[in-house]
Amino acid sequence: MRKLAAGNWKMNGTSAELSELDALAKVHAESSVDVLICPPATLLSRAADRAGNSIFVGGQDCHAAKSGAHTGDISADMLKDAGATHVILGHSERRTDHGETDATVRVKTVAALGAGLLPLVCVGETESERDAGDTLDVIRSQLAGSLPDDLNGADFVVAYEPVWAIGTGRVPTLYQIAEVHELMRAELTGRFGSSANETPLLYGGSVKPGNAAEIFATSNVDGALVGGASLKASDFGAIIQAL
Ligand code: 13P
Repeated sequence: MRKLAAGNWKMNGTSAELSELDALAKVHAESSVDVLICPPATLLSRAADRAGNSIFVGGQDCHAAKSGAHTGDISADMLKDAGATHVILGHSERRTDHGETDATVRVKTVAALGAGLLPLVCVGETESERDAGDTLDVIRSQLAGSLPDDLNGADFVVAYEPVWAIGTGRVPTLYQIAEVHELMRAELTGRFGSSANETPLLYGGSVKPGNAAEIFATSNVDGALVGGASLKASDFGAIIQAL
């Protein structure tokens, strides 16, 4: 499977920041890893035009319905039409800010696949869940609830993002990352068979140029979902180099 470095710009970026894509395209002209940038929806089509062939562009969320009376929402077909190839679903900020449940994420995943997008489905425990020793149960249950049945492992990506590690500068130990990623691989294999070996498992949460190499060397880590450090081509380029 090809490794994936994915950047989630979250609610950051206006036209001026599109120049970071030009810089990134220079760093990442040809490489054996896939690079994805998920800008805010307002920049999506311009980003897709500008990213060229070497960088994929994705959405940060989509609605489960194909179209209709859903003011402010964006469908998977619209993302695809704007040039997206991927979409992040079930990010913890969506789960917290917009009350998204595993069931919501699941129907959105179906919608994304129906539109021909590759979904990046996010899971991750809160700090209190980790402190209570519930991490593996939480991840198991989020995976079970957020992914539809009958998937082929190559058709989606899973990102493990511990909520307490997002934007905090705190990172789990490599052992903790490996433990969760091993569990995810086993759960996916139990459900989708050997095709689960083709599912890229990303780690996300305070990935920086300085810690990327050791995280990428951890077993069952096939890439990263990067927030803050994806906003500057210099930082994200260094993370890509480490992959
Ligand atoms: P940070 O890299 O800023 O911690 O964000 C991670 C994240 O939430 C990516 O989706």
